[in-house]
Amino acid sequence: MKEIVVIGAGYGGLVASALLAKEGHKVTVIEKNEQPGGKASLLKKEGFQFDMGPSWYMWPQAFEKFFEEFGEDASDYLELKRLDPSYRVFFDDGEIIDISSDIEKNYEIFDRLEENGAEKLRQYLEVCKKQYDIAMNGFVYRTYNSIFDFFTPSMVANGLRLKAFSNYHKGVKKYFKNHKAQKLLEWITVFLGGDPRNVPGMYCMMSYLDHHHGIYYPKGGMNGLAQKIYEIALENGVKFKFNEAVTKINVEGKLANNVVTENREYLADLVINNADYHHGETQLLEEKNQTYKSNYWNKKTMAISMHLAYIGVNRKIDSLTHHNYFFNEDWNNHFDQIFKTPQWPDNPNFYVCCPSRIDNNVAPEGMENLFFLVPVASDLEDSDSIRESYFDKILDKFENWTGEKIKNDIVVKSLFTHRDFKSRYNAYKGTGLGMAHTLWQTAVFRPKHKSSKVKNLYYTGQYNHPGVGVPTTVISSQILVNEMKKEGVLA
Ligand SMILES: Cc1cc2nc3c(=O)[nH]c(=O)nc-3n(C[C@H](O)[C@H](O)[C@H](O)COP(=O)(O)OP(=O)(O)OC[C@H]3O[C@@H](n4cnc5c(N)ncnc54)[C@H](O)[C@@H]3O)c2cc1C
Repeated sequence: MKEIVVIGAGYGGLVASALLAKEGHKVTVIEKNEQPGGKASLLKKEGFQFDMGPSWYMWPQAFEKFFEEFGEDASDYLELKRLDPSYRVFFDDGEIIDISSDIEKNYEIFDRLEENGAEKLRQYLEVCKKQYDIAMNGFVYRTYNSIFDFFTPSMVANGLRLKAFSNYHKGVKKYFKNHKAQKLLEWITVFLGGDPRNVPGMYCMMSYLDHHHGIYYPKGGMNGLAQKIYEIALENGVKFKFNEAVTKINVEGKLANNVVTENREYLADLVINNADYHHGETQLLEEKNQTYKSNYWNKKTMAISMHLAYIGVNRKIDSLTHHNYFFNEDWNNHFDQIFKTPQWPDNPNFYVCCPSRIDNNVAPEGMENLFFLVPVASDLEDSDSIRESYFDKILDKFENWTGEKIKNDIVVKSLFTHRDFKSRYNAYKGTGLGMAHTLWQTAVFRPKHKSSKVKNLYYTGQYNHPGVGVPTTVISSQILVNEMKKEGVLA
């Protein structure tokens, strides 16, 4: 039995700790904040319960595979509801499109948008399905030690055939000329912290998941999902220490032998860092023990940060569904103001989640729980006045677009941006999603699960392969534990 210390109780830490405890090890998770879930924390305020981070449950297969390891059926265990519509898109010319859980209705929408649109969507989703199959049959559930592990002959051949390595936008544009059709397929790259013009086409597998497998809501939202994994970890014997920040990983020779917090020291045979990778490397380790030093991080394309608003409204808003997008015709300017000339976007696209449309527990009766998310560049200046005036700007747009005047009906309001990401999660440059998924930051090019300097130090979370997102973070920890088993360090 090994003594294992996990730093951070995000999805990465929760999943790794549960899997390792199931193998019979003594696992302690140390978390700086007051609750499990990391980015998927819960904010409770005056009868409202806000999911502070993720809100989309997609890729159900990934979660099923994890819960199966504990003998649970994800669909029953999480009381999953399939959303219909999956989401609603408000365009700036006034058109509103619902993407349905019934794919036949989506074919009709694309037929309306563009000549032969249904057939084009069918063909495009077939390519996405092939990308998905390649991903599941080799790309996702593995580690990469060299560039040749990634660019294998079959990967290169399939990749060239399916345009997996060229940019996402080009792949969509090949099929669709209509800008709305393009946007309906490209928004998903924001999930990867990127821009349709810098994310590789291979990630179109997400559109296959979206249209063929749908979007779900677990009981209690995405924090509810984290709570379920936390319960499993507890049942398997994991010990949790909350409100305790790790300040140092002590290394002697090439071994991390203890983890220091504000309160005490924890002895460890093995250490797993789930805290922001940059923080774990550059703040918790002495420079000589860092695999990735400051100059590595300075060169990386960081993913988006977000301007978030948790809003309680004292009336119902019938024009919204659970997930709502607001798209401008020209959205390249918004992406440029994130990745090329970082600044607060002057005409942003945004997302509004309204979970109270289907969950009575997240808002007092007759009221609505709103979560506004605007993708913005990392590391922007973020003062009280900037974030407040930016929210007013978004609210004006929301009111104009929906015709719902809510300004005077807001009873709860909390804003969360860069400096909160930094202070609450130690997030590098205040990013919400870590490193963007450009081609050169995919798979073998992401930071490794294992330190090359400290023999018993490991990493898991959104920075590792397969990357950003809840299902991918769950997979990252599954990969890690399998690798540790293969390496023999758990014996
Ligand atoms: C606003 C937002 C919306 C999102 N929407 C979606 C979505 O809809 N669907 C989806 O799949 N994904 C979404 N994501 C992405 C997803 O939430 C993340 O990729 C995932 O939760 C990352 O998990 P993690 O375990 O890697 O990191 P984290 O959740 O950041 O966990 C790391 C933990 O380490 C702790 N920690 C940091 N420093 C220390 C220290 N020194 N000592 C102890 N503990 C420390 C932190 O407090 C944190 O709890 C969203 C993210 C954000 C921010």
